[in-house]
Amino acid sequence: MASTIGFIGLGNMGGPMAANLVKAGHIVSGFDLSEAALSALEAAGGKRAASVQELAASSDVIVTMLPAGAHVRKVYMGEGGILEAARPGTLMIDSSTIDVDSARAVAEAASAKGMPMVDAPVSGGVGGAAAGTLTFMVGGPEEAFGKAKPYLDVMGKTIVHTGDAGTGQAAKICNNMILGISMIGVSEAFVLAEKLGLDAQKLFDISSTASGQCWSLTSYCPVPGPLPSSPANRDYQPGFAAEMMLKDLKLAQEAASSAGAATPLGAQAAALYALFCNSGGRGVDFSGIVKYLRGTS
Ligand code: NAD
Repeated sequence: MASTIGFIGLGNMGGPMAANLVKAGHIVSGFDLSEAALSALEAAGGKRAASVQELAASSDVIVTMLPAGAHVRKVYMGEGGILEAARPGTLMIDSSTIDVDSARAVAEAASAKGMPMVDAPVSGGVGGAAAGTLTFMVGGPEEAFGKAKPYLDVMGKTIVHTGDAGTGQAAKICNNMILGISMIGVSEAFVLAEKLGLDAQKLFDISSTASGQCWSLTSYCPVPGPLPSSPANRDYQPGFAAEMMLKDLKLAQEAASSAGAATPLGAQAAALYALFCNSGGRGVDFSGIVKYLRGTS
């Protein structure tokens, strides 16, 4: 059945996600600070809302896809924000990647107003957003998850309920902390192999079937040659840009500090990605850190 959906944050990810909701037959109105983003939604068959209040007051479901925690707090809890204007019972889905504390604060404020909410960050990038094949990691009460699932199914392929509010964000940053650390580990091994006169293909053939095996090696090899599909073969065009990896590693460090977890390798990975970004790697694929470690970036 068609629902009236309000979508706030129609950028690289939100634009195509909103377009998929339109394609599925829903009535979608959108709000963004960018005129170009609003025009693109209209071209895809959606309507533009004049303000957050107008959108919130007339929607059964609200989806947000914003840059960071501060934007999410403002759009939901600020003056004239969603929680002021929406009707009790309106379903809230925040798919932005944000800090766990903000996700939990907004979910609590929504719940106090009788509005079910889930944090539902994604992986899969712009390609996955356009193809409707995103992975959603969903935190929130079982009932809210059940209500959100049919809409997430339209925008994604794999939908996982991770637990209470904030655990969707926790899953996303824990996974990306593994990824950042493992990419640095694999890159260091290839740089060492070069110095030792060991051919990259030989290292790949051995480690991809030995105990060094991991996704950063076998699905995203950071040096050109062994894996034709990896960004290393197209001059490290993203893919997943180093600045996005840095954002997620910083979120992991914030969460670790707030929760009292020791994550020394996560801290080191965040520091290395900050150095790589500051030395010109910001827009380069995150596997390009191999060039920084080799001293050639
Ligand atoms: P983006 O910058 O392209 O889009 C964000 C949009 O939010 C912009 O259009 C901006 O104008 C709008 N916006 C900002 N403040 C607003 C406000 N107060 N009211 C209304 N609109 C506002 O970013 P993106 O790449 O679409 O990423 C969105 C989120 O998804 C981020 O949290 C990012 O970390 C996450 N993410 C991105 C990718 C990716 O590959 N791009 C992958 C996974 C997750």
